[in-house]
Amino acid sequence: MNADPLELQKFSELAHRWWDPTSEFRPLHEINPLRLEWINARAPLAGRNVIDIGCGGGILSESMARKGATVTGIDLGEKALKVADLHSLESGVQVRYKLIAAEDMAAQEPGQYDVVTCMEMLEHVPDPAAIVRAAAALVKPGGHVFFSTLNRNPKSYLFAVIGAEYILRMLPKGTHDYEKFITPAELSQFIRGAGLEVQGFKGMGYNPLTKIYSLNDDTSVNYLVAARRPL
Ligand code: SAH
Repeated sequence: MNADPLELQKFSELAHRWWDPTSEFRPLHEINPLRLEWINARAPLAGRNVIDIGCGGGILSESMARKGATVTGIDLGEKALKVADLHSLESGVQVRYKLIAAEDMAAQEPGQYDVVTCMEMLEHVPDPAAIVRAAAALVKPGGHVFFSTLNRNPKSYLFAVIGAEYILRMLPKGTHDYEKFITPAELSQFIRGAGLEVQGFKGMGYNPLTKIYSLNDDTSVNYLVAARRPL
């Protein structure tokens, strides 16, 4: 199984706080409007069939469903999925959540999705290339695939690990393992190796003084990538 039990446990221990916007998940709440609009601008979500890999408590999944997409969220964290289900009941925004590995879902529902998203998850997985291949198998020809992760270089170590976990204490210590960070070049290789085309990268910045996130062209720490399956 392409999953690290310790990684799943980390998220499981915090899962009950997933929808608390002041909790450890605050950064996900704050970046969500940015990534949602970026995805929606490239692949208008209304009426689309979407799968969100590593959906966690469903912050992105629900927001895509609010845009009018039919959303399936998958994860291997049982607690996070329970929280996601409860929140969907409460909010009345329907999402189909499933406890299943991306690779197994790809075998069950190949080529079924207009849009595949996989955000802030690849850096927690033993074999990220296999997740990229599963995403490529899930998307329809001509469909869109979006990933986000953390770049690997001295600056990203300083900002994403030391800054976020030790200085600003935005994330619990040990949230991110520098060795698992993925450079844009590596992710591009995974994407092309899976038969997808890279469409473009976007950087995500955080200003600790204003506490505001923004999208920019600096991919040195947090970044997103858009890919497409050829027709
Ligand atoms: N994508 C969500 C959650 C990111 S947190 C968002 O951006 O809002 C990372 C998530 O990845 C957690 O929910 C964790 O359970 C999940 N995860 C970690 N390893 C996984 C694996 N191998 N398969 C599926 N999900 C995994």
